[in-house]
Amino acid sequence: MRPDSLNRLFTPTTSLAGVGPRMAKLIDRVAGTKVADLLWHLPVAIIDRRYAPKVADARPGTVATMTLTVDEHRVPHNPRQPYKVLCSDDSGTIALVFFHAHADYLRRTLPPGEVRVVSGTVERFGNEIQITHPDHMGTVDEIARLQAVEPVYPLTAGLSLKVLGKAVRGALEDAPDLDEWCDPAFLSTNGWSSWQPALAAAHAPESEADLEPETPARRRLAYDELLANQLALALVRLNMRRLPGRSIQGDGRLRRQSLGALPFRLTASQETALAEIIADMADDARMLRLVQGDVGSGKTVVALLAMLTAVESGAQAALMAPTEILARQHLATIEPLAAAAGLTVALLTGRDKGRARQDILDRLAGGEVRIAVGTHALFQEDVAFRDLALAVIDEQHRFGVHQRLTLAAKGGAMDVLVMTATPIPRTLMLTAYGDMDVSRLPEKPAGRRPVDTRVLPLTRLADVVAGVRRSIDKGAKVFWVCPLVEESEELDVAAAAERHQELGQVFGDRVGLVHGRMKGAEKDAAMAAFTDGAVDILVATTVIEVGVDVTAATVMVIEHAERFGLAQLHQLRGRVGRGEEAAACLLLYAPPLTQMARARLDILRETDDGFRIAEEDLRLRGAGELLGTRQSGLPAFRLADLTVHGDLLAAARDDAKLIIERDPDLEEPRGQALRTLLYLFERDAAVKYLRSG
Ligand code: ADP
Ligand code: MG
Repeated sequence: MRPDSLNRLFTPTTSLAGVGPRMAKLIDRVAGTKVADLLWHLPVAIIDRRYAPKVADARPGTVATMTLTVDEHRVPHNPRQPYKVLCSDDSGTIALVFFHAHADYLRRTLPPGEVRVVSGTVERFGNEIQITHPDHMGTVDEIARLQAVEPVYPLTAGLSLKVLGKAVRGALEDAPDLDEWCDPAFLSTNGWSSWQPALAAAHAPESEADLEPETPARRRLAYDELLANQLALALVRLNMRRLPGRSIQGDGRLRRQSLGALPFRLTASQETALAEIIADMADDARMLRLVQGDVGSGKTVVALLAMLTAVESGAQAALMAPTEILARQHLATIEPLAAAAGLTVALLTGRDKGRARQDILDRLAGGEVRIAVGTHALFQEDVAFRDLALAVIDEQHRFGVHQRLTLAAKGGAMDVLVMTATPIPRTLMLTAYGDMDVSRLPEKPAGRRPVDTRVLPLTRLADVVAGVRRSIDKGAKVFWVCPLVEESEELDVAAAAERHQELGQVFGDRVGLVHGRMKGAEKDAAMAAFTDGAVDILVATTVIEVGVDVTAATVMVIEHAERFGLAQLHQLRGRVGRGEEAAACLLLYAPPLTQMARARLDILRETDDGFRIAEEDLRLRGAGELLGTRQSGLPAFRLADLTVHGDLLAAARDDAKLIIERDPDLEEPRGQALRTLLYLFERDAAVKYLRSG
């Protein structure tokens, strides 16, 4: 249960003064729906309203906050003329100018004869000094707030700084004084204050420098967020370790047979990764390991050998892929190698229905099938294994702590191996996979040639088409990837269909099309026509096709490359050049290209090293943008910026580890405060793992 102290922060923003349903919607667009979301909405600029001149001294073009006596309201005869309110101090007269004025409101706000504090940009109009639409008008009581440095927040159309600023102030007033969850010694070494004052300071910048992510206040808040992330992962991990595990040991018989059928030798890093996996499996505790390696680095082979180890011990193993096509592809890799060891492999996807499906389920439950490959359909409720000892999850470029947890709940004492092809930087790795042990495959199998990568404007499409013709005349197969249009799959499909049609006019039925809206059998047919048939150019949307392995493809055309994440482009490019032939990748962009976009695409031209590409992308775009956070499932941070707060992430990880060692169920006073921290950052799921959660 969330502690009562936080209830106020988890109410909708409409509970704040001045926020109605309409404003709440706009606030949701920039910050979120809850009061707490406004606390995390930090200012990005300031307006200095401390300049408080006499009217006669006020510099035109400057923001000034003046104390004035209201003299006279001048209502215009013609409604197109502005409404003016004349005010003065002992040095002179100033006009406050309003277009489309609400007379009632102005009479209430600026009653004649009274003194008011007015802030806005001073202008000179002929001989007159004036302020058009003052930003703020208030009574003398409010002078301290009005004549100050005003924080400026990210806004959206229809949402004014005035309304949002007030809402944030309301949220800050509601922020409770929470018990400290940080180690006091750590706070003092860093010169940090406690949470509430840090929050207040982050929202009250006095200079531009106070907006920097390195200020003590912002670092403290970033640390809190990272600590919540790391502590949650540590609890997940602890929970996994507490579940009973079992020792899986094979005699090596099946592995030897399978290795004997391989036309190559394992690379040194494949050997190391395999040794780590086998040691984990042999251990009594559950395995929770990630194999991270670039596209084509040989993860699937490693996974298969791990699965064979499980089978040698008498148990079963399953491999789950994110899409149907990838599941089939894994099947194609694995099947011959398993056959060499005398094993059959079952495939189970969402497409299997009725009797065929029941038949597979029976063989899994009966134990006749020892190795299964499939999509998430493998782990649906009614799927039972006789003795599943190892689950391998190929995440390609999607991440899902959540999925890992459901899986962990499923098997009796199952070991879990996750494979990812996304070479995310080490820092981000920790935020998404801090709960796992990691094996890396940094080297590629020998004999791979770098892909000749070019960056071209879409205006040269005719040249590209001519080049494609030359390539296919020489027997090449071409992958043509159409852009991600915003987040709409429908539009993606439309764009791909259009390109398919246009290329069809040039190349006739040598052009195929595959996209996420097609039925399974249609997709298979399209893929088969490309790999083995008459189709030489396959137009595809990215949604499902990242990860598809067509060894014959040697040319990859990517339209609107500027819209993709670098890691995604790198992955797509990794789809060609897997065979003996030289391969090319054409990155087509819509000009004009921003300097940043140009720099990003150039990185791809310069290097083939996925880890370097990921680091550069992080450096150029920042973690929030990397991969498109929503798509990747990487945690999105509101306060921490990993390009500057990387050191804090490392500290948070160490801190979390120590906390779990000393007080694994978060029962001591600091532990209780840490529970509040987890709720504050909505890591409720992690709290459930505590014995007395
Ligand atoms: P990943 O799953 O990491 O994308 P795969 O395991 O599918 O990579 O391997 C990619 C290709 O490289 C496959 O065709 C595979 O047979 C081949 N391969 C794997 N390991 C080696 C190796 N050690 N030497 C040569 N080729 C290899
Ligand atoms: Mg693979």
